[in-house]
Amino acid sequence: MSRLKPLIAANWKMNGNNALISEFTQQFAAKTLSDVDVLVCPPSVYLAQFATQVTQYQSAIVVGAQNLSEHDSGAFTGEISTVMLQEVGAKYVIVGHSERRSLYGETPELVAKKYSVALRNNITPILCTGESEQQRENGQTFDVIAQDIDAVIALSGIQSFNDGIVAYEPVWAIGTGKSATPEQAQDVHQFIRRHLAKYDDEVAAGVRILYGGSVNEKNAAELFKQHDINGALVGGASLVSEKFMAICQNAQSNK
Ligand code: PEP
Repeated sequence: MSRLKPLIAANWKMNGNNALISEFTQQFAAKTLSDVDVLVCPPSVYLAQFATQVTQYQSAIVVGAQNLSEHDSGAFTGEISTVMLQEVGAKYVIVGHSERRSLYGETPELVAKKYSVALRNNITPILCTGESEQQRENGQTFDVIAQDIDAVIALSGIQSFNDGIVAYEPVWAIGTGKSATPEQAQDVHQFIRRHLAKYDDEVAAGVRILYGGSVNEKNAAELFKQHDINGALVGGASLVSEKFMAICQNAQSNK
């Protein structure tokens, strides 16, 4: 991992409950994690309560959302705006997760709008990007990723990556137990940094690029040794506080 402070982010998806929130707040209050940022993204209905609890326990966790509306307010039944997220204490928001792209039809352009709206309201967007198995087999990995990144640059400019984060999440590795190898991940992370550097070297050097896809307490250390991997976005293993803590500790020691 390069000198950038690692970020370990939990994506609970549509999982978790009051008990899990208490478990996490207490687990992360008990131990001091320095030099690593720890983020948990629960379902949005739990954000306010989670944010209150982490303050109460002086927990190392910050909370974030898994999605947001591209609109500021209005007749959008079921949607949640970035201002609302900010009011309940969200500091980050995941945009363009592959489940949102494949199940809810989110396009690179829509994801770019969400990224821009989050930034405008001082919430750090985590832009997810990654190829399907088919796309990897067809040699389209870098094209898919460049398209997602370029959509953001077209709307918000390269400087927007000063305040955003990229998560490389190969679709074939998400929830499958089949992580990318450290070398495969590093290859793509390096591509992402080089692609950004075509627009601005300094911005590229400062962007945290997370890896996501079946990260667990056993494979994290090797992934974090890679130069361009600056943390992880964790799904399944983030639902067990001890496992998630072990991943955070690995990031800390591989800094
Ligand atoms: C994810 O959904 O962002 C993810 C990386 O999931 P998992 O860790 O379960 O593969």
